[in-house]
Amino acid sequence: MGLLVVGTPLPWEQALEWLLHVRRNGILQFLETYHRVKDIRGDVLKWGDELEYGIFEIDHEAKTVRLSLRGSEILHELMEKEEKFHRADHPEEECNWVPEYGAWMVEATPRVPYGNFTSDLRRVEQSMRLRRARLLSALKKNEIAPTVTAFPLLGVGDYITPPVVKRGPIANSLYISDSIINPHPRFGTLTANIRKRRTQNVDIRVPLFKDVYTKQMLEDEAAWVAEHARPTYGDATSDIRSPGSRSPGSRSSASHSPLRSSLGSPLKNGSRSPVTTEVNDIKLSLDSEPVFKKLRRRQSSFTEQCEPYTGFIHMDAMAFGMGMCCLQVTFQAKNIDESRHLYDHLGVLSPIMLALTAATPILKGRLADTDVRWATIAASVDDRTPQERGVADASEAPANYSKMAGNGVKRLPKSRYEGISAFICNHKNGDDCHANLDHYNDVDIPYDEESYKTLVDNGVDDILAKHIAHLFIRDPLVLFEQRLHLDNKTATDHFENIQSTNWQTVRWKPPPPPTDGAAPPHIGWRTEFRSMEIQLTDFENAAFSVFMALVSRVILAFDLNLYVPLSKVNANMEIAHRVNAAVEESFYFRRHLAPPDVNECHQANCHVQCNATCLDDATKCIHGAESYETMTIAEIMLGKGCYYPGLIPLVNAYLDYINCDDTTRSLLDKYLALIAKRATGELPTAATWMRRFVCSHPEYAHDSVVTSGIAHDLMDACAKIGEGTQQCPELLGEIKIEPIRGNTGYQVPLKSDSVDTEKRCELLKRYI
Ligand code: ADP
Ligand code: MG
Ligand code: MG
Ligand code: MG
Ligand code: MG
Repeated sequence: MGLLVVGTPLPWEQALEWLLHVRRNGILQFLETYHRVKDIRGDVLKWGDELEYGIFEIDHEAKTVRLSLRGSEILHELMEKEEKFHRADHPEEECNWVPEYGAWMVEATPRVPYGNFTSDLRRVEQSMRLRRARLLSALKKNEIAPTVTAFPLLGVGDYITPPVVKRGPIANSLYISDSIINPHPRFGTLTANIRKRRTQNVDIRVPLFKDVYTKQMLEDEAAWVAEHARPTYGDATSDIRSPGSRSPGSRSSASHSPLRSSLGSPLKNGSRSPVTTEVNDIKLSLDSEPVFKKLRRRQSSFTEQCEPYTGFIHMDAMAFGMGMCCLQVTFQAKNIDESRHLYDHLGVLSPIMLALTAATPILKGRLADTDVRWATIAASVDDRTPQERGVADASEAPANYSKMAGNGVKRLPKSRYEGISAFICNHKNGDDCHANLDHYNDVDIPYDEESYKTLVDNGVDDILAKHIAHLFIRDPLVLFEQRLHLDNKTATDHFENIQSTNWQTVRWKPPPPPTDGAAPPHIGWRTEFRSMEIQLTDFENAAFSVFMALVSRVILAFDLNLYVPLSKVNANMEIAHRVNAAVEESFYFRRHLAPPDVNECHQANCHVQCNATCLDDATKCIHGAESYETMTIAEIMLGKGCYYPGLIPLVNAYLDYINCDDTTRSLLDKYLALIAKRATGELPTAATWMRRFVCSHPEYAHDSVVTSGIAHDLMDACAKIGEGTQQCPELLGEIKIEPIRGNTGYQVPLKSDSVDTEKRCELLKRYI
């Protein structure tokens, strides 16, 4: 993630003096890039995925699973091997390994991006399996690397060896040790500076899933805490409030939504609304005796488990968010207009795909009442001051705030980690009804005025200037002493510094700066889709990556229009968090995707929705109906009524249209079938599957607590499913995963290119 410069990062107190310098020069660097590359035309599709991995230590006898903090060691071993076995003629057999936030994590991408052919779609799963095999080959006997979003016991008990040191100088966390942060200075500085800018620890509260004995567990826990009177919360260096007390400006705890309370109200208030804190008294139909035994056994874990906010899982450090793993895909566009067009459309799809790939039901040893990671990460890197968050008065701002963007007091409704804030495509304005952007951009976009003015004065159009100036309402967080004074014509560090710490569901990526020396492969305008959760198997990760590649082609080839107002995209993000939203919720989605003439419906019984032959102002049909409605993901994927065809049928139409070859098509059929089954609920999401795993585990006491034994069994199963050594029809239906032979060692290619003379002589001498 982000730039890994070798240098000395500035602590926040010193960084403050340079914030404006970096923001101003970042804009100038963007302008240099923009004017250099805005006229690139005719790039072909290149694309690639990113997979993030966590490495855990498993002990089958003690039934424990912990973080293995060997990420850097493993990373370097794998990088060295890629170098050693490098084959210029077969770059597709190579992987690119990069560090990630957690000291237990690594990230990998294909060494060269996939190309423009149908056969490239078959490379994706192969590349992912290769990466998994290589990673497995670098693990010790007692290590596993299941592809799960969150380590289920992060911050609970002895989840690392040596045991946890709390309240370290970097994260100042009550739950986690600084030693779990990647040792590269960038990551620690990022963590500390987010906390310092915010003036407090980050404060993550995720609603706790309420099971039949959860209330009992909470009461027991409270009693235990009262009895043992542990003065854990609210030391002088932190903002953690004791249970019951409230921060200034926060609403009552019952109505406090940790999930972006700034957004519009949820579409529908189901019984599982994430904001509900009431615990219902549920009549027990279970055999209560064994359950209470389990509960008693649990008492000892209260020392680690007790939660300061009833009804919520509380977390207080960046690692809880940035320690999660995800699946991202990046597409190169043929030109800047196409990259902007894709940005908007992928922005609309991001909450849908977040819900469909849901894989995060467990946080900090508890079942959550949400299924996805997004809001947790958003809160984990929320560096806004109390004034920016709207919980303190601007007049109370300290003097040094004036050095920060927006003087540290400009009201900012979102964290740096969020859904997209604006639609940015304008190239279709005027020639059809696609881009009535003012209507769709119906949510205020706070932006940095000075940046906006510089951009507009230098030839950037209004909405793009707003998008960039919106990124620049944030301060740079990690400044390297050695990289402050740069040539804006050739360096983009300052721009990238801010761009790469605005973590939105979609990222619009300008081409990188030119380099000296050997010409690197050309990289054009790219759009990165960032919302998907990582899946347990490479089959699934490939299915979702390939699906997004195909949907992006369909959008372009069929000139689809997916726009809904941004406020509805925001609402969809919130809906996506609900338990089993993939099947049980509805999302705002556009009714008519195709240009007006295609929308005409010939079915007599279907008027208002279907007869809308003209969406003249791009939003309402001639009968005044809105251009969107609510749909389930099954409908979004498979179609609704006679007016909305569904994304999967559109993909199939596209594959017919391009004459996709049969070999590829049969693989794509499997991918599309998986996605359809996930959407209809015929197969569960990873989140639902994990929830069921916990709930049916003999050690589970129906009190929302995921014990060490359960976590061990779950991670063990996830690892085996990913490696193909245990099949999982409940998750994958009839799909079987071929075993990955990583633990037999690093697989080397059979070379046949001729060995140079010197080497040959040396070898022959040794063996003859
Ligand atoms: P970041 O972490 O900044 O998002 P990474 O380098 O980790 O970026 O991942 C970039 C992804 O983009 C990789 O999957 C890579 O294969 C892919 N990629 C590389 N070059 C191109 C290109 N020219 N066009 C599209 N995608 C590319
Ligand atoms: Mg990453
Ligand atoms: Mg990456
Ligand atoms: Mg990325
Ligand atoms: Mg457009």
